[in-house]
Amino acid sequence: MTLDAAPIDYADPDLHAKGLWIGGRWLSGRGIPVTDPSTGQTLAEVADAGLAEAQAAIDAAEAAAAGWRATPHRQRSEILRRMFIRMTEEAEALARLISLENGKALSDARGEVAYAAEFFRWYAEEATRIPGEFRRTPSGSHNILVDHEPIGISLLITPWNFPAAMATRKIGPALAAGCTVILKPASETPLTAYAMARLAEEAGVPPGVINVLTTTQPGPVTAAILADPRVRKLSFTGSTGVGRTLLAEAAKTVVSCSMELGGNAPFLVFDDADLSVALDGAMVAKMRNAGEACTAANRFYVQDGIHDAFVAGLASRMAALKVGPGTDPATQCGPMITRKAVQKIDRLVRDAVDRGARIVTGGSPPAADGFYYPPTVLTHVPPDAPIAQEEIFGPVAPVYRFQTEEQALRLANATEYGLAAYVYTTDLTRAFRVSRGIEAGMIGLNRGLMSDPAAPFGGVKQSGLGREGGVTGILEFMEPKYLAIDF
Ligand code: NAP
Repeated sequence: MTLDAAPIDYADPDLHAKGLWIGGRWLSGRGIPVTDPSTGQTLAEVADAGLAEAQAAIDAAEAAAAGWRATPHRQRSEILRRMFIRMTEEAEALARLISLENGKALSDARGEVAYAAEFFRWYAEEATRIPGEFRRTPSGSHNILVDHEPIGISLLITPWNFPAAMATRKIGPALAAGCTVILKPASETPLTAYAMARLAEEAGVPPGVINVLTTTQPGPVTAAILADPRVRKLSFTGSTGVGRTLLAEAAKTVVSCSMELGGNAPFLVFDDADLSVALDGAMVAKMRNAGEACTAANRFYVQDGIHDAFVAGLASRMAALKVGPGTDPATQCGPMITRKAVQKIDRLVRDAVDRGARIVTGGSPPAADGFYYPPTVLTHVPPDAPIAQEEIFGPVAPVYRFQTEEQALRLANATEYGLAAYVYTTDLTRAFRVSRGIEAGMIGLNRGLMSDPAAPFGGVKQSGLGREGGVTGILEFMEPKYLAIDF
């Protein structure tokens, strides 16, 4: 691609709707409409890759692999650092683009871009600190040397809810480790991925190191990529259902898998919690991204003594939120990603009401062209209602009353998921005891936000395998090689 002499407007959807990004070239095509969730109108159309383009992406990733692997760590680090700088320079345009295609409020989109760029900065630093090991065996028979090598060509599949951050959380460590990648972004939000491909090129990422494919046939296209013996890694973020399908697909060629899957986060508030701290945390844990987050608080368990005050405080904060198009700077809660998503939320709320739940605020979608659902608080929800089992993925907060710590823990763990959980208490002993008792990969202790590039992000049970970020995230894209040495 030749960069235009005129400044590029990264927020222009048409700019990124030129084709697939393979081997450092744009392959033109059309076929996937991108919808503005705030109006239901088509914003742009991107290319639809088939099996031939998937093959071309693997060929490009392979052609670049040896050179990238041999690129000194310091040089890889500096390229990643330039990606951080370019993303930061274009932060406002990228945030507007994310708001346009995803619908999230501009303030959420700005937060996402800052968070996403940090993965490039973090992995620019980690690229120069890849660990190794040298030991003598306990028996004294020989020496053990462990080196870490790039795992190979990596397929990265990302969801629509954080179109920038879910991609950088994978591209950063993969490139730092020395791997070349094929990114398959979600069909709802491909423009951000293509914008980042442009920025990566400007930052000096060599052709073929990052390839981006969009497709209307994610199953067959990703199956063909995983079937190619040159591809050695799958890093997936998305729903548990699709994750299961991909694990089965990857099993055929025994491809290494990192899976960041769905969540059903409990939010526990004990009688001794600081009410205003708990309410602040609840608003972040529930309403970041209008509830469309894997870490979103899905079930609020509140102890008897503080329950009514918590419900009143939460309802008044939720009712005060301004709902509107994401790109309107005044908006605090943007539209949902699709009409189907609104219908799913509506179904869960109606079902809960049929089972005896009471609506404290919100509760029914407005008649509008955009895909809106109002901030909603429910009480008296039976703990076995589907809304307590499924990801709501929207601005709905069901609040359940509990009496004892044992009951709260039992309810919190009554799910196949184990991604995130939140605990609010001022009793330090209880805080650690409950945190140990909760089956989740991440706990927010008196805190509604846990995502940080320097921390290991991921879940237990059916919320996933492996961790992204932190000091171990880079190892997901490396294989240890052990040398048994006599000298
Ligand atoms: P999704 O439906 O599972 O889709 C995720 C990605 O997988 C998209 O790129 C999608 O492509 C692709 N895909 C769909 N079917 C596929 C198939 N048969 N084979 C291969 N790829 C396939 O999830 P989503 O609705 O985009 O995202 C929401 C989900 O992601 C929620 O469950 C949320 O909890 C989870 N999530 C988890 C984390 C985490 O870190 N644990 C973070 C964010 C989101 P198309 O768009 O083309 O269908």
